Amino acid sequence: MLAEQYQEILEKVHGASVRSGRKETDVTLIAVSKTHPVSAIAEVYEAGCRDFGENKVQELVAKYDQLPNDIRWHMIGHLQTNKVKYIADKVYMIHSVDSYHLACEISKEAAKQNRVIPILIEVNIAKEESKFGVMEEDAAELVRRIALLPNVKIRGLMTIAPYVDDPEKNRQYFVGLKHLSVDIARQNIDNVDMDVLSMGMSGDYQVATEEGATYTRVGTGIFGKRDYMV
Ligand SMILES: *Cc1c(COP(=O)(O)O)cnc(C)c1O
Repeated sequence: MLAEQYQEILEKVHGASVRSGRKETDVTLIAVSKTHPVSAIAEVYEAGCRDFGENKVQELVAKYDQLPNDIRWHMIGHLQTNKVKYIADKVYMIHSVDSYHLACEISKEAAKQNRVIPILIEVNIAKEESKFGVMEEDAAELVRRIALLPNVKIRGLMTIAPYVDDPEKNRQYFVGLKHLSVDIARQNIDNVDMDVLSMGMSGDYQVATEEGATYTRVGTGIFGKRDYMV
């Protein structure tokens, strides 16, 4: 059943990518597996998914050890600096970098693992008080500073759009993030690529993909509702 739900969402992502004038495969669907058991992840893996997203360090580490090692693990949640060391050798990309301080820590821990960790800058594009992420107007400056760190590589931007009933309400924010990424790309900052845009969740991934997402992060739509009591 999870395999079918995954396939269904994947087809919709592909359709939205084509509507945006791109190829089906220009967008990667990240299955957000937080709170769901290893058995559920294995089902979606069997259906062909290799990109999974987690928002808690402990959970990512536990699942990492129990699942195939060709999975690309995406850290998508707020990350505390003192926990970076636990995932520096495991994570494929960190989507939620919103401070220089955190980027320094990631670079330091990545150096110990002899690697460069790809990161995205999280932008609070809708200026919501409750959200993490750098403000749009401060993003370019943060990118410039982080770009100087040796063991992280900025690949693009990420945002968590507001929770809305009508996904069309979020289109403006996805357009805004795309514009910001084009703006920053034009500045040709050394050691910075702006080829990744991580946006869209279960409620609005099609709109986000139409507006240029290269990663879209779907949890509930694939795995069903989360039970936080587990
Ligand atoms: C949980 C989560 C998602 C997925 O949310 P759904 O609404 O279940 O699809 C996407 N992105 C982030 C950062 C999340 O924490």
